Parts: sequence; C-alpha cells; structure tokens
Amino acid sequence: MTDDLQRGPQPPSPEIPKEKALQVRLVVLDVDGVLTDGGVYIGALPDGGVLELKRFDIQDGFGVKLLQWAGIPVALVSGRVSPATEIRGRELEVEELHQDGGAQKVRAIEEILERRGLRWDQVAMLGDDLPDLAALRRVGLPAAVANATEEVRRVACWVGTRRGGHGAVREFCEALLKARGEWDSQVEAYVRARSG
Ligand SMILES: [Mg+2]
Repeated sequence: MTDDLQRGPQPPSPEIPKEKALQVRLVVLDVDGVLTDGGVYIGALPDGGVLELKRFDIQDGFGVKLLQWAGIPVALVSGRVSPATEIRGRELEVEELHQDGGAQKVRAIEEILERRGLRWDQVAMLGDDLPDLAALRRVGLPAAVANATEEVRRVACWVGTRRGGHGAVREFCEALLKARGEWDSQVEAYVRARSG
C-alpha cells in the first residue's frame, strides 16, 4: 500500500487557469523529486562499475504519453546525469531530454525554445527544488509537486496534492489536459483504440 493510500482520501487536485493551460506548447519536467521520489539507489557492480537505480511511477509515464498524444511535446530537464533517466526518457519517447550536472536549466530550455520557435510563456514546468527555481520564474505556467520546497511552492501558480515519484506528474498532466478541455477526448480515444 502506498503512503497516499495509508493517508486516506486525497484532497481534490487544484485547477489550472484555462487561459494559462491553453497557451502551453511545451511541458518541462524535472526528474529527481518530480518523476522520482528523489531517492537514488547506488551500488557497486562486481567489475567495480557503479550501478544507479531510480524508481519511476507507471501512472506518471502514462500521463506523459497522454500529453504527447494531445500534441504537447515533453522535455525532461535534469540537473543530474544518470543512465536511468536516459533509459526512462527513451522508453517514454520524450521529445527532449537534457541532463546537465551544473543544472543550467534556463540555458537548456532556452536552447529548446529557440530550436522549436517557442516562447517562455508557452512553457509549463513542474519542479520541486532550487535547481528548478530560475526556470520556473521564466515559464508561463510554473507548477510544483506537493512536497516541493517553500521557494518553489511560492513561485508556482499550481501546486499539486501528490508527492514527487508518487503520481505528481500524472496529477499535473491530468490537470493540464482537463483545463484545456482535452482530457475526456484523450481518454475516450485511448479506450476506443483498444476496444477491439
Ligand atoms: Mg528535483
């Protein structure tokens, strides 16, 4: 049983303002603490190599796919370089994957925007901690997971009820698609395509 179930019913997710949701053309997700609970398992392989494992949430991944199917590209922008993140990004077929140990996220997103001909106000970003703050201050729709740090929560125009790695990304994807009026049609299209 997850922590969330043990805590009982979840409070309802807050809504994203419709006008902000409608201008989103790119969703940027932090990885550690957003797509994961922030934990990293580190161990040694018999040959002396380092093995690093992260736990990703399957419902989060499905939320990412629903955004993509709705025509919204997804970027993973991480301040930590990790093969686990690359594997998960490939699995989800994210349109952009950027890992940089220096956490120069503004620079990374700026490069994506230039290449795609987009503006900062067309970006939604979900973050949890200080490495996200500079970019969150620039985007049109800054969002925070429930257990984000105080500084991040303060700059966010949407704060979810789910913790990083425990459905926070799924909650955000749903809230964004619902605010755009696209949630029901995406769900029905998915079910229809699997109805034999
Ligand atoms: Mg983080």
